[in-house]
Order: sequence, then structure tokens, then C-alpha cells
Amino acid sequence: MKHAEFRFYEELNDFLPPHHRKIPFRHVFSGRNSVKDMVESLGVPHTEIDLILANGTSVNFQYIVEDNDRISVYPSFESIDITPLIQLRPAPLRITKFVLDVHLGRLASLLRLVGFDSLYRNDFDDPELAQLSRDEKRILLTRDRNLLKRNIVTHGYFVRSNLPRDQLSEVIHRMDLYNSLQPFKRCMRCNGVLNPIEKDLVLERIPIATAEYCNDFHICDFCGRLYWKGSHYGKLKQIIQYAVEGKTSCGTTR
Ligand SMILES: [Zn+2]
Repeated sequence: MKHAEFRFYEELNDFLPPHHRKIPFRHVFSGRNSVKDMVESLGVPHTEIDLILANGTSVNFQYIVEDNDRISVYPSFESIDITPLIQLRPAPLRITKFVLDVHLGRLASLLRLVGFDSLYRNDFDDPELAQLSRDEKRILLTRDRNLLKRNIVTHGYFVRSNLPRDQLSEVIHRMDLYNSLQPFKRCMRCNGVLNPIEKDLVLERIPIATAEYCNDFHICDFCGRLYWKGSHYGKLKQIIQYAVEGKTSCGTTR
């Protein structure tokens, strides 16, 4: 039997059992194993990882772990600056787009609320989600860590929080998206883009009371839903403010 010493950093510890968190630990193994297979067997999806050091040297996922290796594993979306070192990803995704698993419908609506192109259907299966993520260069958001272990998924994130507005805050914070928000530019229901429309053109669709005080209307270019600053507007603004201020109750180990 061989053994290697593993140390996982920051939020990667979320995936480990308590006795392995934030400390170096010995892992006993046999045979030839890539470092990717080994870290995933320890519970950490490869999509969460940005940098692996073997005995102080940056290695890729295919690196074969040797007896007595010291392996350090660092997360994606980490605030410490690791850019001088070789990263596992060739380049970050330039436009932030998402595809979400079946458990994250409410989060998809909220990401649309702040302007992100976010695909969601409650009948996407795992292979479809993985394929969409790769083909359309979308970050896969999921509550299923096994989905992130699929080889074709290169950009994925395991959402820790339970409540949708905490999930929104978590995603914005972890991916540092504060400068990319475009609130009220996208349809929360279908992901279409919202465009301004003359009030007169849609007058018959507007409640009479609304027509009296509101002159600013937007329409979804895909499903035709009308948007205006009605009674929900204040509540939605509060959700955005909550997300931007980074208040989150998610239980990270950071
Ligand atoms: Zn729509």
C-alpha cells in the first residue's frame, strides 16, 4: 500500500468529513490513480478545484499520485491570488451564463432578476445539464455533487445555501459578480430579454389602476410578459440589496 498526504483549502472543506477539514491527512491507496480520481473519491468534485500542487509544484488533473506525495488542493473562485501559478482551466468563461439543476428553479428566477442568462427546466436530466454546460459554456449550478464529477463539466459550482435569496447572495459573492449585475433586464419567468414598450401599445393588458400612475413598461421578447414597477417591485429590490450586501447564512467553513 502507498500513502499520500492531502490538504484541502477554504470552501473545499465543505465536502470533507469533519476529521479531514483544514488539516493535512494521510490517505492510503494502491495502484495507479490520477489526482482527479483521488480527490473526487475523497468527496470533492473537480469543478470546484482551480489549482493542485504536488510537493509544491502545480500539476494537472491527470497527474498520477506517487507514494509519499504531499497534495495541496485549492478551490475555484478563491479570493487568494493564484494567477501566477498554472491553473487547471485554460481561461475563465468570459460571459457569465448559467444552467441550473431541477432543484434550483427559484434561484434561476433570481439570477434572471439580476440580469444573468440562466437556463432552467424542471425536466432537464443530468446528461442534458452537463452537455448544455459544455456546449453553451454555462456554469452549472447544482445541489448534486455527483453531477459535478462528470468529466465534460469544466465549470460548475455546488450551491451550499438552502434559501433562494441566500443562494443568490452566495453565487454573487463566490464568483465576484458584483460588477456584472443588470437588474430588471431579463424575464424572471422565461429568461427572455426585457425591452421598453409604449404604454399605448399594451394599454388593454394593464390594470386600470396601474395605468393611472405608471408610464414605464417593459415586455419580454420571448414570452410577451409585461413588467412594470408594481407592488412586487419593492420586494424584488430588497432581494437584490440583500444579495449585494453579501448577507448569507450559508454554512461555509471559511
Ligand atoms: Zn418571458
